[in-house]
Amino acid sequence: MTGVAERPLQQSGDKVYRSWLGHTQFCAACRAGVCCPTAVRLGRVWREVRRG
Ligand SMILES: [Zn+2]
Repeated sequence: MTGVAERPLQQSGDKVYRSWLGHTQFCAACRAGVCCPTAVRLGRVWREVRRG
């Protein structure tokens, strides 16, 4: 098990993408080019929902 608490099966890829995009614009770590756990997680979710 990966220990993921939430399974966003009902989220659309577009919604996740916009969440990720909004995060990268306001997250200090992301803007600094630092590896951010939240961005990594959102990116992973986005990839999952896109695959269906
Ligand atoms: Zn971030």
